[in-house]
Amino acid sequence: MRILKYCFLSVIFISTSLFAQEPTSTKPQGHTDQNKFRQMKDLLATPNETRTASGAPGYKYTQQQVDYVMDIRLDENTSQIFGDEKITYHNNSKDHLQYLWIQLDQNMRAKDSKTPDVKEESFKTPFNSAQSFTKNNLQERFDGGFNIEHVKNDNGSDLSYTINQTMMRINLAKPLAPGDTFKFQIKWWYNVNNHVTQGGRSGYEAFPDGNNTYVIAQFFPRLCVYNNVEGWQNMQFWGGRSEFALEFGNYDVKLTVPADHKMEATGELQNPKDVLTKEQIKRFELAKKSFKDPVFIVTQEEAEAAEKQRSTKLKTWHFKADKVRDFAFATSRKFLWDAMAVDINGRSVMAISLYSKEGNPLWEEHSTRVVANTLEEYSKLTFDYPYSKAVSVHAEMGMEYPMICFNYGRPNEDGTYSERLKRGMIGVITHEVGHNFFPMIVNSDERQWTWMDEGLNSFVETLAELDYDPNYITGNLPKDIVPYMGGDQSNISPIMSQGDYVHQFGPNAYTKPAAGLYMLRQTIMGPELFDYAFRTYSQRWMFKHPTPADFFRSMEDASAMDLDWFWRGWFYTTDYTDIGVKDVKQYYLTDKPTESAKERAKRFKMDLADYPGRFIYYAEAVDGVIPQDAKSASDFAELNTYLESLSPEEKAKLKEAPKHFYEVTFEKPGGLVMPIILEITYEDGTVERKKYPAEIWRYNEFEVKKVFKTNKAITSFVIDPDLETADVDTSNNAWPKDDATAFSKFKEKVKG
Ligand SMILES: [Zn+2]
Repeated sequence: MRILKYCFLSVIFISTSLFAQEPTSTKPQGHTDQNKFRQMKDLLATPNETRTASGAPGYKYTQQQVDYVMDIRLDENTSQIFGDEKITYHNNSKDHLQYLWIQLDQNMRAKDSKTPDVKEESFKTPFNSAQSFTKNNLQERFDGGFNIEHVKNDNGSDLSYTINQTMMRINLAKPLAPGDTFKFQIKWWYNVNNHVTQGGRSGYEAFPDGNNTYVIAQFFPRLCVYNNVEGWQNMQFWGGRSEFALEFGNYDVKLTVPADHKMEATGELQNPKDVLTKEQIKRFELAKKSFKDPVFIVTQEEAEAAEKQRSTKLKTWHFKADKVRDFAFATSRKFLWDAMAVDINGRSVMAISLYSKEGNPLWEEHSTRVVANTLEEYSKLTFDYPYSKAVSVHAEMGMEYPMICFNYGRPNEDGTYSERLKRGMIGVITHEVGHNFFPMIVNSDERQWTWMDEGLNSFVETLAELDYDPNYITGNLPKDIVPYMGGDQSNISPIMSQGDYVHQFGPNAYTKPAAGLYMLRQTIMGPELFDYAFRTYSQRWMFKHPTPADFFRSMEDASAMDLDWFWRGWFYTTDYTDIGVKDVKQYYLTDKPTESAKERAKRFKMDLADYPGRFIYYAEAVDGVIPQDAKSASDFAELNTYLESLSPEEKAKLKEAPKHFYEVTFEKPGGLVMPIILEITYEDGTVERKKYPAEIWRYNEFEVKKVFKTNKAITSFVIDPDLETADVDTSNNAWPKDDATAFSKFKEKVKG
């Protein structure tokens, strides 16, 4: 019904506009500046004292700080988590705050959550597994929302608050003044979900041996970001793609769990003697000196013995972390534990893994080593990893928090695994540990801009993986994004889109920005300029909240490259690259005036017959055939007379005077401007590469011409022979069109 109505309206609209546009003059209509190289003034916020035009934080830049002191208890029998949370909110802004907004992420799982309501439903498949049939049709909706017991200020009186789905507003009695702090406390509990059967970034996995492994995050009410870009960043959490925006702060957390659990969390353990055995402490000391191989803190034998029993006692683990934007933990009696040291520019950092025996043998072989490699590689490209440790925990997902992340990679029951699983596991660990840099430290707003952490992280991940294994198939190279960018345009969004409405999230937020940055580094800027600028951005915004403009501006500011055309095309549109050779004309030298020379002379009111022997003419070869009487440069007396007046060196050049002239017309059916990378093959088999910057398209974005002068005949031109620019259609990339060698080269590469 709706569609019909719109069709009808548009028909009327078109017909009236036809009448309205009855031409009154033949003069073309005017237009606004649509040049691909126009600057981004219209897209970026005006710079100010908090965010400068250079892309750096300004002298008035401030950010809020939120400190948490928490007492957390896990009831393993009921899988419930209870929390007593004391929050100190520092208002470092210049604004008076009338209220504070708090994120209640677990409410996405509340019984009245709107998340299931906005999910489209249909019978996609006429059959269902028994398990999912039960889940979809017979189970009551799981109640995993927060139960808020009280919200009090620090003298114990109740505070007024309002909950709107996953957001809670604390209504302050009087506005919080600039520079003031506000202390309050929240008491809460919730039912932990099974993240394997119910999904989610946090939860438990139940094993047939009766034990659970808990990987717990977004488990406590957390303050929203307040800044001069969004005000309060209180967009709802739908549980889907768009992740989190969080303030930095200091955490002091006590976690009470069954006494036989092993645990890792964000921050430094404060009471090892209360929770670890003497032997485990000794092994940790050994690990701190082991830079080559991981040392077991808990062996598989010990873990297997532990999972056969169940302690009824409790133990409290105490962690402290400064300058982190979040807190997460993992706990279970099933865990094996290993650790090694990593040298980050002379400072020793711990790489640690926690995994159940089900992860072996893969996990003890690779996890901690991949953590170590990631910290080293990312530190080279950004800044020295500032925290004391990075932990990789085995869970069937991939999710990141400060100093700790949860990663998949489970071998078959008999311990065998495919190369593909191993690659996936190395990839996910590199990726999630890498998130320590983006967004845990370079703290962008994930709810708004997924690419700022996922894209930048996937890009550095690609370089780190290639370092771990040069043959690693990253899937993030420019050629890998071709199927997406060359696909149905109606179903894809620009990178600069909010994640909750993006259709193809993976390519949009991960691969496309990563491939774009790879292209920027390898092809457009070169590693030297790129790396300096990328490090500049990372260090400027370390422990701060950057926006896209801060990234775009920093990359240009530190490199003296105008990249507005690149950001505008790659990030703000769904245009694609397609550059081709439209036409190649060959010319030869002759002393007879050609028809086109006569035509051109006429325009200058000249008759070429009046100037016998004065000019050298270029004649176009017909079908590539150069006639027998074509001259070489040394045949022209006029040229030689002129050269007589030159120095011996200049005269010697005559020998190199070109015999062959090729006028190449490049076409650009694609909307993106890109450098033209050209491979030229000569008759003697030699090959030459030329690269023309994207600015070659400044005056005409559809077609440009170049003339190649050479002594040796050219046998082929190939555009983008190494598939560096994500060209979506390579069928127009070679001349001659039917050149078998040029084409087979492409086919091989596209397949790879
Ligand atoms: Zn990620």
